[in-house]
Amino acid sequence: MNRSSHIDPELCRRCGQCCRTYEIEYSRDWDPVDLSEIDRIRALAGFGDRCSVREEEGTLVLVIDIPCRYLVEEDGFYSCSVYDDPGRRPLMCEHFPYAHTTRADCPHVREGRS
Ligand code: SF4
Ligand code: SF4
Repeated sequence: MNRSSHIDPELCRRCGQCCRTYEIEYSRDWDPVDLSEIDRIRALAGFGDRCSVREEEGTLVLVIDIPCRYLVEEDGFYSCSVYDDPGRRPLMCEHFPYAHTTRADCPHVREGRS
């Protein structure tokens, strides 16, 4: 799935998990009014019921369970249909797994950064 130099190509199972959910981190230190954005998003009709909150130390993580429109499946393996199209593939995908810290826990991420 992912050809990042940080992912061992021999180990990536092409499970597509990194493209099926989207996570946004909120610091618990934020003003309660700002933090209530999580509740507002979860209240969105037709969208909010796809969201959940994961509690981590010092952080609330809003998990949006909606797959990317560019994720394609074939014979149980997932790939990105715009992988080589920088005009459509978001830059944060190019920088995965380090553009989004909560996703750096894929078991197949190489140790360290290079
Ligand atoms: S979550 Fe990890 S193993 Fe699964 S497709 Fe993404 S990089 Fe590969
Ligand atoms: S654009 Fe491609 S790499 Fe990025 S989330 Fe979608 S399928 Fe995954």
